[in-house]
Amino acid sequence: MVVTQDKVTTCKLLINGAWVESKATEFGEVNNPSSGDVIAKVPMGGSDDVDRAVQAAHKAFLEWREVPVVERARVMFKFKNLLDIHYEDIAKSVVREHGKTIAEARASVMRGIEVVEFACGVPSLIMGESMENIARNVDIETVRHPLGVCAGITPFNFPAMVPLWMYPVAITCGNSFVLKPSEKVPLTSMMIAEYLKEAGLPDGVFNIVHGGKDCVNALLTHPLIKAISFVGSTAIAKHVYETGTKHGKRVQSAGGAKNHIIIMPDADMDQTVQALQASAFGCAGERCMAGSLAIPVGEAGDMLIPQLVESAGKMKVGRTDVDDSIDMGPVVSREHLAKVTSLIDKGVKEGGDPVLDGRKLKVKDAPNGYFLGPTILDKLKADNTVVREEIFGPVLSCVRVDTIEDAIKLGENCEYGNGAVIYTSSGRAAREFKHRFNAGMIGINVGVPAPMAWFPFTGWNNSFFGDLHIQGKESVHFYTQQKMTMTRWVAPSKGSAKFHDPIWKAKS
Ligand code: NAD
Repeated sequence: MVVTQDKVTTCKLLINGAWVESKATEFGEVNNPSSGDVIAKVPMGGSDDVDRAVQAAHKAFLEWREVPVVERARVMFKFKNLLDIHYEDIAKSVVREHGKTIAEARASVMRGIEVVEFACGVPSLIMGESMENIARNVDIETVRHPLGVCAGITPFNFPAMVPLWMYPVAITCGNSFVLKPSEKVPLTSMMIAEYLKEAGLPDGVFNIVHGGKDCVNALLTHPLIKAISFVGSTAIAKHVYETGTKHGKRVQSAGGAKNHIIIMPDADMDQTVQALQASAFGCAGERCMAGSLAIPVGEAGDMLIPQLVESAGKMKVGRTDVDDSIDMGPVVSREHLAKVTSLIDKGVKEGGDPVLDGRKLKVKDAPNGYFLGPTILDKLKADNTVVREEIFGPVLSCVRVDTIEDAIKLGENCEYGNGAVIYTSSGRAAREFKHRFNAGMIGINVGVPAPMAWFPFTGWNNSFFGDLHIQGKESVHFYTQQKMTMTRWVAPSKGSAKFHDPIWKAKS
């Protein structure tokens, strides 16, 4: 799957079951964020590569759609077994190219495997509906057909899990698939593709292309692609939705987030501190469901913040590729480190109090790693940049408010709407928050309310563009189209020859 040149591997494309060279002339770098080392080169492909992959996928689709769904699901059962066997290797690959801790990487791979388990159940989920006698002698049925070639475009933050949100369900529904993984973390998807092949998936049903903007635009405009699943930042999600739908494709496009965490004074503060720390700084804050804006209500601020600063300040930050005991790893790239750092600078300039400042952190033995310590900016105002914009790093912004009403109002003005959480021991406060807060995924005393594979990932506002969400039954609906058949079989009319046929005697 990779060729080695001067000790740095170059990623190949997976087309029709074979690893082949890209026609790209430009290459990007894949780094180990813990060390800064270049571990692979990735071709920045365009329409040539995309067309080769899509043509292969289209040819494979014409055969694959005729394979009975139960046989397609059997490939997924075998795939799941292989993922279980190679679970640790996959998690290590995530650590190496992304920088998560091994515990975070394992958990993310498990979440991906759960989607494969869900896909094993597609035979039950893809069933249609039927009814007799909708009019006299008229019956009706609906069945679900696959769409054709589907494409997935994924972000850097979950190298195994987010691609697995997409193709197991798409493929089991009878589609073929072209994946364009993030150019920052393409290696884990390539590793997993070998297991799909080993599980018996026919050549061409699953393909991989590499690149960035040009590659994505080639997918969005290719006439043989019927559906696009996208996960990434809001600006690109919107572009993908608008361009894909303009070219006649079905699109589900998940964007960025600013997840509000409301802390009521009646919350269990010890538990809240631990949960908030995990939510804000887990995966170095690079999660679309990370708690990135704390909103303590009333006295909660004075109870929460000192305790949180003390606890988060003790987190062990370091190289996740050589030390399994690390609490928080690096961010994904040097550019991302610079972006997050400059947003912290801006937050401080706008009046935020850096009660915990990770900017000065130096990790021993990792001078070139992309490290930043946990950071908390307290006493911010609603209109500050770091309160409104997604940072996507280990930074918790904090706005103190007087009432739950103020906290709910802050949500109403938020451009995003992925997750929102309340910590409280009051059923009334929880109910009010659940019902009224302007976000699609709600946690009540749950820090990261990311739904399991059986439920949809229901982002709202600019956190999602489209109708049918990723995961759950909605994903089966997204990757299929319905066909309705209405049937009338009437008894022979009086006077016709068939009317006197003895086999109809009883009926007539
Ligand atoms: P990104 O938007 O930079 O990249 C996502 C994908 O888009 C990549 O495959 C990339 O190659 C491609 N891309 C980048 N620039 C492009 C352009 N100009 N035109 C076309 N395609 C382009 O996102 P990222 O930095 O890789 O990931 C982080 C973002 O993903 C965060 O905003 C995070 O909130 C979001 N995310 C959202 C969810 C969710 O479910 N809502 C889940 C995970 C991550």
